[in-house]
Amino acid sequence: MTRVVGWALSLLCGVGRVIVVGVGRRLRPRLGVVSVRELVVLGTASQVPTRARSHNAYLLRWDGEGILFDPGEGAQRQLTLAGIAAADITRICVTHFHGDHALGLPGVVQRLSLEEVSEPRRGQRVAFVMDTRLCPAVSELADGVDLLVIESTFLSPESGLAAESGHLTAAQAARVAADCGVRTLVLTHFSRRYDDPDAFHAEASATYDGNLIIASDLIRVPVPPR
Ligand SMILES: [Zn+2]
Repeated sequence: MTRVVGWALSLLCGVGRVIVVGVGRRLRPRLGVVSVRELVVLGTASQVPTRARSHNAYLLRWDGEGILFDPGEGAQRQLTLAGIAAADITRICVTHFHGDHALGLPGVVQRLSLEEVSEPRRGQRVAFVMDTRLCPAVSELADGVDLLVIESTFLSPESGLAAESGHLTAAQAARVAADCGVRTLVLTHFSRRYDDPDAFHAEASATYDGNLIIASDLIRVPVPPR
């Protein structure tokens, strides 16, 4: 039985549950598999998909594992566009059951046979933080991780709206990353009200001076080596 991954998972403050399922066919890493640890960004939109952004969905490739996070609507098609086969998915993690994080589940699940979950071990670490206000759990998850994928639904001028709706701004996400010593920061889950990714870069880079990536659909981000 494999014990491959060393990742942290996201929580929705207060009420969050992370659902993790293993997928049967590939619980054992294949012999001779090339060691690849990278994030494949499948979708980056928050509640409503746009012309340029599909609903959330992320595949973390981790050696022989393919861990699918929060498959929103359209995840199957995005997997195809990214060149990822259903058989490459070995686990699915869902942070919560809002549509933009889970509507893609039925389509993906019908193609897979689900089995048990194994425990992660320590190593390089990746954290996902979705749909939350700032809370202690965010910093706990992000503390010292190699790669942080975090929602920044809004920019600071809309910080009131962010607080009201239970989301983060780019500045808040960047502050978390800076304080927690995150090595690579991936911002995602953008409101459709924005169409300029550079505005997110400008706001976040004022606080965080590490490797900052404003996610767009179908990009790939390597997990930084230790
Ligand atoms: Zn969401």
